[in-house]
Amino acid sequence: MLVGIMGGTFDPIHTGHLIAAERARVEADLDEVWLMPANVPPHKPNAPKATAKQRWEMVVVAAEGNPFFRPLDIEIGKGGVSYSIDTIELLCANNPNTEFVYIIGADMVQYLPQWHRIDDIVRQIQFIGLARPGYELDMEKIPAHIRSRVKILPMPLIDISSTMIREEMYKGRSVRYLVPDAVHTYMEVNRLYGS
Ligand code: ATP
Ligand code: MG
Repeated sequence: MLVGIMGGTFDPIHTGHLIAAERARVEADLDEVWLMPANVPPHKPNAPKATAKQRWEMVVVAAEGNPFFRPLDIEIGKGGVSYSIDTIELLCANNPNTEFVYIIGADMVQYLPQWHRIDDIVRQIQFIGLARPGYELDMEKIPAHIRSRVKILPMPLIDISSTMIREEMYKGRSVRYLVPDAVHTYMEVNRLYGS
């Protein structure tokens, strides 16, 4: 089985994440995509606004209805700072018959050289890189041993970020359709991001 792992802070999960996951699945012929919220993301200066439990529950409701999507609580369950190398080693040990590939947007592709123990990571898994507005996908700037492990696949440019959704909500503006309906309802019921 070939599984795409889409990690993120998901604060909140939005339509851009889901389109990216579905495009990667179709273009790379993945059997499933596992959506995996980070507990504490290593690369973000500010703590997430929603709790780990809330971010997890939003991923769960967002994945509902797509038989190819599965929420994965491995990083939230483990706690602490979520380093991809630890997760990859755990995933591979627990699923010996599954091959994993990581799905990342262009901002993360740019940032790959700075990932904790990236040389060990690229020895173990490959990446699918997807375009994202505002971030260039200039692979020439990435060292060859990393670049050779990243496959760029087609992705319509979707100019949505969790930051933008949080800002719109703090301003009291609608984010309907920028997130799935179930996430929209969840955020209102739980009074997230100033709603
Ligand atoms: P924030 O603004 O809080 O950083 P975000 O929208 O960037 O949120 P993350 O949870 O940080 O979302 O991202 C998780 C993964 O999804 C990353 O690999 C990121 O590149 C990718 N991603 C997020 N939004 C998009 C998008 N609109 N198009 C393509 N990839 C995306
Ligand atoms: Mg981000």
